[in-house]
Amino acid sequence: MSTRGNLFIVSAPSGAGKSSLISALLKDKPSDKQVSVSHTTRKPRPGEVDGQHYHFVTVEQFKALINQSAFIEWAEVFGNFYGTSKSVIEQTLNKGIDVFLDIDWQGGEQVKILMPNTVGVFILPPSKAELERRLTGRGQDSKEVIDARMAQAVSEMSHYTQYDFVIVNDDFDSALADLKAIIRSQRLTCASQQYAQNDMLNDLLAD
Ligand code: GDP
Ligand code: ADP
Ligand code: 5GP
Repeated sequence: MSTRGNLFIVSAPSGAGKSSLISALLKDKPSDKQVSVSHTTRKPRPGEVDGQHYHFVTVEQFKALINQSAFIEWAEVFGNFYGTSKSVIEQTLNKGIDVFLDIDWQGGEQVKILMPNTVGVFILPPSKAELERRLTGRGQDSKEVIDARMAQAVSEMSHYTQYDFVIVNDDFDSALADLKAIIRSQRLTCASQQYAQNDMLNDLLAD
């Protein structure tokens, strides 16, 4: 019997809209789902808050965390280190709360191996031109950073086949509805229902 929440990996090329989709999702009913706050050596963007968007750390601090086996996965993305804390994920899942990992494909691959029940969702932009428009429109990265992320986009997107579900984020509300449908169906699996409906099932099946 499953006694845990579901773990979701959400990956996409930078700018495809995964952060926007995840934050819209969490506005709904935040008590039953949580996004994992990664550690990163990247500098905070304007408006990013330590402990909320990321735990911002130095390279030395990040390496110390690797040595302590604190990460379920870590990867170097765009020249910075990013990693997901193991203990926070395990504690949250054990409370029956769904956890969303906003991580790149390298991290997704590591998590899938360690936790094969994880549900992978890949978000695609409708076109390269629209991806570049969104990265520019977000107004948070320099031209050099945007160019580097556009150059990486094709290689990131080539990994979409490793995921269980693919969502095209053209119309935002449709993409959000698609993401909600995936989560809803995951909560209706037999293993999830055995946990969620435990008392009712015990009553129904009692002699
Ligand atoms: P975004 O692409 O605009 O969301 O930019 P970010 O700087 O927030 O993320 C950069 C990249 O790092 C993305 O590909 C993320 O999916 C990835 N990333 C973020 N956190 C993690 C993490 O904890 N582990 C791994 N492996 N990748 C991460
Ligand atoms: P990611 O986390 O994948 O890098 P963001 O969520 O930061 O992407 O989205 C990048 C930019 O694109 C943001 O400015 C966001 O408001 C915008 N955006 C996201 N989804 C859509 C959409 N469906 N249509 C138009 N703009 C979008
Ligand atoms: P950004 O610097 O724009 O916040 O993130 C860049 C990329 O790093 C995004 O694709 C994001 O998904 C990825 N990323 C963020 N946190 C992690 C993490 O903990 N692990 C991995 N593997 N990738 C991450």
